[in-house]
Amino acid sequence: MSNHTGALPLVKLIEQFERLPGIGRKSAQRLAFHVLDLPIEKAREFAGAILDAHERIKKCSHCQNLTEEELCPICADKSRDETTVCVVEDPRDILAFERTREYKGLYHVLHGLISPMDGVGPEQLTVKELMAGLSDGKAREVIMATNPTVEGEATASYLARLLRPMGLKITRLAYGIPVGGNLEYADEVTLYRALEGRREI
Ligand SMILES: [Zn+2]
Repeated sequence: MSNHTGALPLVKLIEQFERLPGIGRKSAQRLAFHVLDLPIEKAREFAGAILDAHERIKKCSHCQNLTEEELCPICADKSRDETTVCVVEDPRDILAFERTREYKGLYHVLHGLISPMDGVGPEQLTVKELMAGLSDGKAREVIMATNPTVEGEATASYLARLLRPMGLKITRLAYGIPVGGNLEYADEVTLYRALEGRREI
């Protein structure tokens, strides 16, 4: 019994790693033992980095990108073109677009995609915030830049239906991105072509 109680923190640690995306039981055990082998100050540094990131990083009040400030650096940059808003699933997609150095507009991060199979509806995403952001009337075009997956397409058409009555031009990325592919891994040239070849939906 005492043996079992003693093992509990390790079991808990393994469980924490197992909850991370892409980590199975075996990897979780390997990571937990690795962390256990760390000198205590390294372990504190690791735990501290998790807490620090959580406490300091929040969502940009305008585009929902992750930031330490009230506005993210892109929204705060007055040289960006406010007439174009690129709607993406994840903050990592912004990094991909910024790497092209061609897109000068603003973004909106949905933090997910509509997926009835997983019980994710529009209310779990930042759709309300998107509508609020567009209500200032500055935007002329909204680019639906979700991944070309079933969920990505469903989300893009849902938003297009929702936004069209606002008199906005709604466009979708061209299929330079392979179907079922992931924007995050698209190279700059492919992503730039997809952006250039966007069509109205
Ligand atoms: Zn922002």
